[in-house]
Amino acid sequence: MDISKFAEWLFEPVGGCAWLSICGKTDELKKELSEKYSNLGVEDILLNDEIDDTTKERILNLVHNYSEEETKELLSTAKKESRKEKLRDLKRKIAQKAQELYSNIPTDDIRQPISDAAKIFVWKRDMGKCVKCGGKEKLEFDHIIPVSKGGSNSERNIQLLCERCNREKRDSII
Ligand SMILES: [Zn+2]
Repeated sequence: MDISKFAEWLFEPVGGCAWLSICGKTDELKKELSEKYSNLGVEDILLNDEIDDTTKERILNLVHNYSEEETKELLSTAKKESRKEKLRDLKRKIAQKAQELYSNIPTDDIRQPISDAAKIFVWKRDMGKCVKCGGKEKLEFDHIIPVSKGGSNSERNIQLLCERCNREKRDSII
């Protein structure tokens, strides 16, 4: 569009004036967004899952005066950050759950601590009971093939045994 056409478009009457109506809408939106999100800092807005991306862009653009380019950059950084944050959260929750449920269940080899995720997996797979006798008392996480004999530390090599069954198993191996 050349400059004269642009000037024409600018002053073309559309229910008053195109330029004014665009400015008016922007101001209206700016006011609305400022009122609604005035208590949130830029970081809070970026990491807020309840605000959609377009609205985030508008808030940063209109209320916080970031350029379009800066806004896009901030948004993409926030997405990476929030994924990391979510992953950290998830790991924390898994660890917490494991701590609550299994902290008092010993493992047969303290040199090879079993990961929390593996403990949860084994507990669910073995349905919280000894795989030999079905007992629910004095359970232990047992390495099916002992670590000392080359057994791995993954959930495939770990099972739930009660103390008695585990002792019997150990005696039969030795
Ligand atoms: Zn048992």
